[in-house]
Amino acid sequence: MARYTGPVCRMCRREGLKLFLKGTRCESPKCAVERRENPPGSQSFRRGKMTDYAIHLREKQKVKHYYGVLEAQFRGYFRRAERTQGNTGQILMSLLERRLDNVVHRLGFGLSRAQARQIVCHGHITVNGRRVDVPSYLVRVGDVIRVKGRPKSLEQVKNNLTEVHREVPDFLTLMPGDVPEGHVVRLPEVEDISLPVQPQLIVELCSR
Ligand code: SF4
Repeated sequence: MARYTGPVCRMCRREGLKLFLKGTRCESPKCAVERRENPPGSQSFRRGKMTDYAIHLREKQKVKHYYGVLEAQFRGYFRRAERTQGNTGQILMSLLERRLDNVVHRLGFGLSRAQARQIVCHGHITVNGRRVDVPSYLVRVGDVIRVKGRPKSLEQVKNNLTEVHREVPDFLTLMPGDVPEGHVVRLPEVEDISLPVQPQLIVELCSR
């Protein structure tokens, strides 16, 4: 599946908040959001009050950038959430949070979602003992996400775990140890997401 490869800090500046797309740089004074408050673009100072549509659109774009998914894939998640019984917005966010690249990032195996995606794509991760190299793989309750036992796989992940002590969300448990692994104890909910988000706005936009 295609992915965005352009500059990422401008996405945070566009949304006016940190989306944590660059690993350790995001925690440093070099973060572009902290250095430049205005949105990207030469005419950004001219922009006035946001329209209702713009508020809804920004909410969707924020979530897309945060999880690193493009429009077509996002629409796919939305259709799936619509077909599932329950609150569409909450189901949509739960689906995105269950992506394997996100789970690998939230466990601290990858410093950013982009790095976590690369770790998955390069075959360093197993789910329930089987290699999974698909970043969009959706984890289920009871899944065991483990780093492969090869030195090459372990080195980077262990470095990341020691570099950043990330708070693991309640729907996951982390077992560091010689071969780090994580367990999915329940499905994620909106409260588990480390981004201020109003899923209802996204539902209203995508349902138009
Ligand atoms: Fe966003 Fe990180 Fe860039 Fe800051 S450093 S603007 S949080 S991607």
